[in-house]
Order: sequence, then C-alpha cells, then structure tokens
Amino acid sequence: MSQELSPIAAPLLNWYRLYKRELPWRRDREPYHVWISEIMLQQTRIEAVMGYYARFITALPDVQSLSEVDNDALMKLWEGLGYYSRARNLKKAAVMIMQEYNGEFPKTCHELKKLPGIGEYTAGAIASICYDEKVSAVDGNVLRVIARVQGSRKNVLLPEVKKSVADQLQKIMPDEAGAFNEALMELGELICLPNGAPLCESCPLKDLCAAYQKDLTAEIPVRVKTMKRRRADLSVFIITSPDGKLALEKRPDTGLLAGMYQLPNIDGFHSDKALMPILHDMDIEPISVTFTKDAKHVFTHIDWYMKAYRVETDHTNDRFIWVTPEERQGSYPLPTAFQKLL
Ligand code: SF4
Repeated sequence: MSQELSPIAAPLLNWYRLYKRELPWRRDREPYHVWISEIMLQQTRIEAVMGYYARFITALPDVQSLSEVDNDALMKLWEGLGYYSRARNLKKAAVMIMQEYNGEFPKTCHELKKLPGIGEYTAGAIASICYDEKVSAVDGNVLRVIARVQGSRKNVLLPEVKKSVADQLQKIMPDEAGAFNEALMELGELICLPNGAPLCESCPLKDLCAAYQKDLTAEIPVRVKTMKRRRADLSVFIITSPDGKLALEKRPDTGLLAGMYQLPNIDGFHSDKALMPILHDMDIEPISVTFTKDAKHVFTHIDWYMKAYRVETDHTNDRFIWVTPEERQGSYPLPTAFQKLL
C-alpha cells in the first residue's frame, strides 16, 4: 500500500510551496504558536480562529504566561470557541511544561503525547511542523485526501482505518515532514473539499488519484457512524407447571423483538435471596429455583448477558401464557436469544 502513496510527496510539496496560505502561526515554527492554533482549529474553521488566536497570543505570549493565567481570564479568552475543557487542558499542559520540562517545550511526538489535551494528531502536527520529526498527523482533511487518492471505500471514521493511513504516510514521510503534513491538510482545506465538491482540476494529485480517475469523488470518503454497543443484563426464568407447560409472555409491540414471545425475565442480575420476592411479584410460588446457565446474545446494537433459572411451580396463573412443548414449536416460536436457554 505504501508504494501507492510514495508518488504523492513531490507534487504535493511543490504545490504547497507555491500556494500555501500565509497564516499567523506559520510565520515561525514556534511550538507554542503551532500548539495553540492546532487546539483552536480542532473545533473552528481557520477564518474564525484568526481573531481568537491573535487575542490569545497577545494576552499570553508564551508557555509561562499561560501556566500562570487566572482561570477566569483564560475562559474569557476562550469564550465563544466552546469546548472549555480544551482551554483548561492548555493551562494544565503549560504548568506541566514549566514544572517537568523546565519551561522547554517537549521536542518529540512521544513526549508531546504525555501532555494533557495533546493526542496523536496534535503531537504529530507539532513534532513534524516544528522539529521535522518524521511522524504523520492525520485529521479529517488528510483522511479525505488519502481515501480519494487510493479510491478506498473503507469507513474513514473507524480508528483502524485512521491508523492504517497514519502508518502508510509514516512510511513515505519525506525529510520535510512538517511541510508534507501541512500540505496534505492544506490540500484538504482548499482543494480536496468535502461533500463531493473537490476542485480536482486544480489538484496536484489528479494524475495519481483513483477517485478522480474513476469519477468516485462524490462517493469517497465513506463516513459511516457506528452506533455504540450497549450491554443489558437479564435474569430469565424457565417456569414450568406440574403438567410440563412452560410460561411465556408477549413482548411489547415496539422496540427490540417487538410483539414476539419470550421467557419471563427482569433487568439485572440478582442474588438467590432476592429472586423469591421477584417471583412472588409475578404471582409465582416456586417449589424450586435452580440456576441453569449463563448465555450471551448479540443483537445489532445491544448485547444481552443472561442468567437463566429453572423455576418449578405447582400452579399456573393468568399473567403468563402456559404452553405445551408442541404448542411452543407450532404457535409460540421463541427468538433465538431465549431458545438457547432451553
Ligand atoms: S484529484 Fe480531486 S479527489 Fe483527488 S485528491 Fe485531488 S482534489 Fe481530491
């Protein structure tokens, strides 16, 4: 894969030399300036950041002044940018630089990542831009450019895809690492625009770009938000009557397994002692309650962890539907999640 990307370095660097924007934090390679601008740019577009950046640097021109700033004054400088924890982390990191690094900004990506609020991307950006360390710095702009150049339909929101892009770029990183990383970001900001509207005719990579050549720029990059998985613990009861009937109930008409039949169950795991009153509330007088097995069932967005109990009772009630094994097979099919407990 890395060979595919190696041809992009030269045209990209040439383009950057000609077209890069003059931005205040690019006037020097001062890590303090790059750091503040990168943190501000995480949530706001460049045009909006300019004013905040100028005010911030005028009020707090170096790490020491940031480490000593009054919290209210810091919040005032950050007001309107949002994500106030980022401002608090800036100060925490400045204090750490003063105390643990004698006021000297750490010079490697590895050390930078130890500072509060500095993750993989920001550390890579500072280390490459200020010290030309050969590390990649992959943000959304870079992911978009690389996905299009490679014609990749992988979901760029997945951490493993980001990691793979970072690794591939790392392998082809030229000596001018800072300029290379900035060029990729700049290309994403100015030319390889999102939402299917890149300015390919002006792009230095168009001869190398799979998405451009196959007319796929509207489809790439692929961004699929994956929902967070949830976990639910359930205590499930296999309740049988003396004549061998099994207690079932119907699930609500909406939601997971809507309208299907299920074994009676309650949320959470409970002690043996706590199970008795729970069963009484279900109008069940157990003769015996025996733990039978643990089981897990995976749905699309939720994992059920189940503890099953076999409950023998000497009477049926109106609360449940009591079915024979034949009826269960024929008229009351159970979802797999419950079948695996029987
Ligand atoms: S050719 Fe178009 S799609 Fe490809 S990298 Fe350049 S701007 Fe992006």
